[in-house]
Amino acid sequence: MSLAEIVQVSPEMDAWLRETRRLIHVNPELMFEEEATSDLVQKHLTEAGVEYKPGVGGDGRSLYMDAEELKRAGITPGPATGGTGVLGTVVGARGEGPGKTVLLRADMDALPMDEENDVEYKSRNPGKMHACGHDLHTTVLMGVAELLEKNKHRFDGTVKLMFQPGEEGGGGALAMIEDGILEDPKVDAAYALHVSPEHPAGHVSMNHGPRSAAADMFEIHVRGVGGHGAFPQGAVDTVYVAAQIIVGLQEIVSREVAALDQAVLSVTTIHTGTAMNIIPERAVLTGTVRTYDEGVRDLIQKRMTEVAEGIAKAYRAEAEIVYLRGYPSMQNDEETVQIAREACIEVLGEDFVHDSTPMMAGEDMAYVSARVPTCMYSLGVKNEERGIIYPPHHPRFDADEDAIAVGVQSMAAIALRFLEADEA
Ligand SMILES: [Zn+2]
Ligand SMILES: [Zn+2]
Repeated sequence: MSLAEIVQVSPEMDAWLRETRRLIHVNPELMFEEEATSDLVQKHLTEAGVEYKPGVGGDGRSLYMDAEELKRAGITPGPATGGTGVLGTVVGARGEGPGKTVLLRADMDALPMDEENDVEYKSRNPGKMHACGHDLHTTVLMGVAELLEKNKHRFDGTVKLMFQPGEEGGGGALAMIEDGILEDPKVDAAYALHVSPEHPAGHVSMNHGPRSAAADMFEIHVRGVGGHGAFPQGAVDTVYVAAQIIVGLQEIVSREVAALDQAVLSVTTIHTGTAMNIIPERAVLTGTVRTYDEGVRDLIQKRMTEVAEGIAKAYRAEAEIVYLRGYPSMQNDEETVQIAREACIEVLGEDFVHDSTPMMAGEDMAYVSARVPTCMYSLGVKNEERGIIYPPHHPRFDADEDAIAVGVQSMAAIALRFLEADEA
């Protein structure tokens, strides 16, 4: 049998995959609340005869965020273990030696936003939506688990199936690493996929080198002197100062970061004021900084503080900045990508495997890639005819469900190829 035949998804399995994705999609759960999703994963692993351990990992923020900055931001992280994460294990049964160990990862959490798609599987949980495709990632890995379990006579070694909580800013991957998932047996390589609207269903893309950026968050608290809108001379206008700070911050990336270094600084929220005739006393700005280079990251953090404080001071106000360092940037390993590329070409065809470019999005798979050779690739989910064109985190994001089987086939093929499975 060819590799493509081994990882073939039957029509029955495809129907099950679509149904499962919808089950998860209608019931999105925010980070660290992925109870029903985790239960569904465990139920399926049990039915597929795959061994697993629940309660692995949890809230990773206490592991990588500065305790003092967390306190200033008003965030109290939950426990880093005993959460909703699940680690499945498929052990090869060919019997020719111990073999290698490969980790495959899916994230399970949704985003705090309302879905605007008019579809029968629309989110039934107000204010929650699977807008980053993690419903699809979880479904894919459930399918992969089943395929690999069925084919374990073909290989030696171990496949670890990492169903993680809290990818959307919670560092669930790091919490699972702290719980020992990369050891015993030691993981030799790791693979993950992420849905992408760049290509139609049926296509994948990947690159070695930088894949995702360091993703930091900030809050700037501006304090002026409140007063009557008609008498600004008796006040210190917080709105004006906040606006000057927003403009001033854009100078850092455009004038202080080298043109060939990548950096993004976005102010994404402004909260202040209560009425048209009141000059407010306080304003809060929040936003994100994305970088690849640690030196650039340090420079921006330092200069943001100086610029915000300096501008506020120039206009008789005060600014205080809370800077929370998020996930580091992520690197894809060349040899690990090459194995994935070859397996995907064999299963999907050369015309369906593309090169990708680095992204400014953040990814907590970065914690895995810092420890073991990793390849995270993109799974095309676009379908222009059906209006499935929106990027992740958009209220109308959706995925062409034809892509689920492609995710299963590609990931299972990569694992089998990595473990040098018998393909006869
Ligand atoms: Zn996301
Ligand atoms: Zn995501």
